[in-house]
Amino acid sequence: MTLLEVDGIDVSYGDLQVLWDASMAIAEEDSVVTLVGPNGAGKTTLLRTLSGLLEPSAGTIEILGSDISTRPAEEIVDLGFVHVPEGRNLFDEMTVAENLQMGSYRHRDEFEETHAEVVEMFPVLEERREQKAGTLSGGEQQMLAIGRGLMAQPDILALDEPSGALAPQLAERVFEKIEEISTDVTVLLVEQHVDRALELADRAYLLENGRIAAEGTGSELLQSDHVVEAYLRG
Ligand code: ATP
Repeated sequence: MTLLEVDGIDVSYGDLQVLWDASMAIAEEDSVVTLVGPNGAGKTTLLRTLSGLLEPSAGTIEILGSDISTRPAEEIVDLGFVHVPEGRNLFDEMTVAENLQMGSYRHRDEFEETHAEVVEMFPVLEERREQKAGTLSGGEQQMLAIGRGLMAQPDILALDEPSGALAPQLAERVFEKIEEISTDVTVLLVEQHVDRALELADRAYLLENGRIAAEGTGSELLQSDHVVEAYLRG
């Protein structure tokens, strides 16, 4: 079964149309599908639409075989699509442990097992378990946001700019973790670090001005003249 199938969606904020006839798919489990593009292209808007926070005015979206175009956000999480938003959206006044707990509301009975897997991947979350999320460093907060997303046991984990605002070395650690996660969970990665994101990607889409301007394997896009000239040179 195709995990995600987006077919010809238009999305607007009031009179401002942001996505135009956008289509994309995730066909393979445990893969990384990347959506790259410049500031303002509509990447976050596409993720918010997949999460049920915005409704397309045309087109269809299927997640794991179910049409979600008109479903509320909670039902989309229940289907297995979990979105870690840009800016992380942590509960700053809550501890690391409490934030992780909030992530597991769908599977409370499997909390211990999932928690053990998440802290094995991110040991810092166990070391800092009693610390308030708002006092973590930027890199640690990003690990917590991803860890909290994993606590919901997603089939598809959508990450919006996980390397955003991180120093290059920390961003690299996040990319390494994403690679590790993708052996087990399908990752939809939205990134402005075009080169690194395409290296990780099994399949990639370039969004420009609200339209899918190119698609292919990660290495195909890395070698495309358009991508090289617009995003990779200099
Ligand atoms: P970035 O990489 O800078 O986050 P993006 O590709 O994720 O950019 P979006 O955040 O989806 O782009 O924004 C696409 C366009 O939609 C932009 O022109 C933006 O100003 C506009 N936009 C985003 N959110 C809203 C909103 N709530 N109301 C009106 N316009 C919006």
